[in-house]
Amino acid sequence: MKKYALIILLALCLLLSACGGTAAQARTRTVFAMDTVMNLTIYGGKSAALDDAERELYRLDALLARGKEGSAVYALNRDGAVNDAEIASLARCAAEISAASDGAFDATVAPVLELWGFGSGASEHRVPTDAELSAARARVNYRALHVSPENDVTLDAPAEIDLGGIAKGYAGVCVKLALREQGVESAVIDLGGDVALLGSKPDGSPWRVAIKDPADGGACLGILATEGDVFVMTSGVYERFFEENGVRYHHIIDPRTGFPAESGVVSATVVCRDGAAADALATAACVLGAEGALALRERLSGEVPFNLILVTEEGNVLYTNDNFTPETGNGYVYERVS
Ligand code: AMP
Ligand code: MG
Repeated sequence: MKKYALIILLALCLLLSACGGTAAQARTRTVFAMDTVMNLTIYGGKSAALDDAERELYRLDALLARGKEGSAVYALNRDGAVNDAEIASLARCAAEISAASDGAFDATVAPVLELWGFGSGASEHRVPTDAELSAARARVNYRALHVSPENDVTLDAPAEIDLGGIAKGYAGVCVKLALREQGVESAVIDLGGDVALLGSKPDGSPWRVAIKDPADGGACLGILATEGDVFVMTSGVYERFFEENGVRYHHIIDPRTGFPAESGVVSATVVCRDGAAADALATAACVLGAEGALALRERLSGEVPFNLILVTEEGNVLYTNDNFTPETGNGYVYERVS
């Protein structure tokens, strides 16, 4: 009888440990940083991991915000020089994507952003005059940003930088690191629609990321099934904008014209293993338009491979990823492109 009791007890222990192994507890945390509501979900791990991740986001906000006195970016704009390993690594990434995109992504577009009221200051949204625009455009030049191997970052006057187009991707990288250090192996880091995936899903199935319909925030354009450790970064002209005299002006600036980009692409999603590059590439894709974005993908295929989901203003969805399943019956015309 004793023997049977022991066997039952053993079986019970095995069952309990098996349950504990597969059903990793999900913990969530909402953080407001970088002007964005962010939602972090970890599977397994302690809530101390979320505390670390939250702290990391506040730290990055303080480091990268152009308008915050005391930030490294503020210091770089004021003094023309800063020694900081993280700013250096971001500047290197920005330089690479700027060169590859022929300046469609340009971290020195700050003076133009400021004119339109999309800068860091409290400036009002308004359409600038031609004279203002040409003066600001004369200060835009990504080649004015230099980085030494010793992490000295310098900026030739009168250039100014804004890392808003790359910061969230980098934040995703840092949060993943912070979580990993706390032993978390599986997490979804939603940085306000931009998603960083850590590890694989607890049950081993692919992650399923819903891609937002740019015309209807509540609707979904399709589902991206993906392995872990990728970033799914979206830039869209609908994210921030204002209207003047019935015309809509958005926050993604074409550095070549100084005006909000009119490339025909209203939303660009980049799927890539490099978070900062993914973020910069999504911004660049909105400036370049569909043809230019696909050509950029081709050019970078050796160094920074990435997939694209592009939505055009005519209602076409072009995607390069086999693991994207379009939503049906929403009026969009989908096309798998290479
Ligand atoms: P994202 O949401 O990642 O596309 O970033 C948009 C932000 O990037 C804007 O709010 C600006 O701060 C900045 N930005 C706008 N246009 C550009 C550009 N052409 N190159 C680099 N950064 C830009
Ligand atoms: Mg971006």
